[in-house]
Amino acid sequence: QPITTDMETLTLEMKKYATGKKLEIEMLKVREEYRREFLGNVSHELKTPLFTVQGYISTLLEGAMEDKAIRKKYLKRAEKGVERLIYIVEDLDMITKLEVGDLNLEFSEFDIVELIQNVFDLLEMKADKKKITLAFENYHIQPIFVKGDKDKMQQVVENLLVNSIKYGKEGGLTEVSVINLTKKKVLVRVTDNGEGIEKQNLPRVFERFYRVDKSGSRTEGGSGLGLAIVKHIIEAHKEKIYVESEFGIGSEFSFTMTKAKLNIS
Ligand code: ADP
Repeated sequence: QPITTDMETLTLEMKKYATGKKLEIEMLKVREEYRREFLGNVSHELKTPLFTVQGYISTLLEGAMEDKAIRKKYLKRAEKGVERLIYIVEDLDMITKLEVGDLNLEFSEFDIVELIQNVFDLLEMKADKKKITLAFENYHIQPIFVKGDKDKMQQVVENLLVNSIKYGKEGGLTEVSVINLTKKKVLVRVTDNGEGIEKQNLPRVFERFYRVDKSGSRTEGGSGLGLAIVKHIIEAHKEKIYVESEFGIGSEFSFTMTKAKLNIS
């Protein structure tokens, strides 16, 4: 049974079965196993893009370099592989910081509507490639100020939108909306009409390295860390994240944020 849950959940689980010295020893064992599992996953994730890059470089050295068109094509693919490696390493860096809890959130008050619009601009090309429409219900209506770490929250929105494109269908639709939930909270919703997630897989999508489709789309996909990072960031903010999905119909990821005082005046 591989350990894919985070340390916090594991610790809670352990406390049900052991106390005192026994708990300490059990925790050490779990930690050791956790580390081994993590390293195993990391090398596994790194292998695919590394072999890809190596493959293109070898082929070039074996003679493909002579042809100018092929040279360019293979170098581009090698570059893509290196890019992917960088993404994975960045994600790993982030998840490590989040899991050991030494990620310092820098709180400020910012406009969540503007932040979402910025992410839309950033991902426009990616969406265009799959002819996916990105729609934002609150577009240019009025600012909604919230409290949080702006950069980290941008990463949350980005990861959710990237997924909605990645697992969305050609010509599909992703809709984002910010809803007034209570006096203090808003709910940000990201809805797509993509492939959806089967019920039995749904509880696992936030686990690190977990991917529904283990075989395919490896080159296309990220590191399997995107949603784990999202969940950690939201929980570090003491906010909540939800997912609902219907296989073949689409998915909805939503999270809460706390309103800033700025709105009330
Ligand atoms: P990655 O996208 O790198 O595989 P994530 O942690 O972002 O990793 O997502 C984990 C898994 O959850 C994905 O591999 C995919 O199977 C599933 N998933 C995430 N978002 C969606 C979505 N919007 N629609 C369908 N499946 C999704």
